[in-house]
Amino acid sequence: MRYPTPLLTLIRALSRLPGIGPKSAQRLAFHLFNRPTEEVLALARALEEAKTGLARCPRCAHVMATDEAACAVCTDPARDTALLCVVEQPADVLAIERSGEYAGRYHVLHGALSPMHGVGPDELTIALLLERLDGVTEVVLATSTTVEGEATALFLAQRLRTLGVRVTRIAYGLPVGGDLEYADEVTLGRAMTHRRDL
Ligand SMILES: [Zn+2]
Repeated sequence: MRYPTPLLTLIRALSRLPGIGPKSAQRLAFHLFNRPTEEVLALARALEEAKTGLARCPRCAHVMATDEAACAVCTDPARDTALLCVVEQPADVLAIERSGEYAGRYHVLHGALSPMHGVGPDELTIALLLERLDGVTEVVLATSTTVEGEATALFLAQRLRTLGVRVTRIAYGLPVGGDLEYADEVTLGRAMTHRRDL
């Protein structure tokens, strides 16, 4: 049996989301079909508003509202501007914030180096990072402990050391191959406190 075209279109769109396979996409599509129209239209509006209302912070590449000049961390005067923590994703900023062990600023790479998947330094926000080291005395590399995350940390450590910046790496207690986002705040807090020179 052939599915109606709008249903196929929805299933295809949903299955492009991370972690959603064809079966989950189909289940979600039927779920949405059975929900009240107003609820589904509210979801569609939320998607549209999130896409048009959010942008990358011009300083750190974290997420911010399009009607603001910079993100909430960059505009916070209480932050230690000598400390800069480099992470892969905006969700990692939120994870480290939850640990309560860090009071500096952030830099979001939006990925990790992966030659196999065509991700080189130019696909990440590395150029922006190297431009904003004025007054920074320590860069904490908090990329994930995956192969790509470790390779990215080593690449950045080499670049940053030639610029005379102290480079540290969080590692303590974090599972190898793990995404920062899924670490609990105690483990992540300890990893930040026990960061080592790289
Ligand atoms: Zn920012």
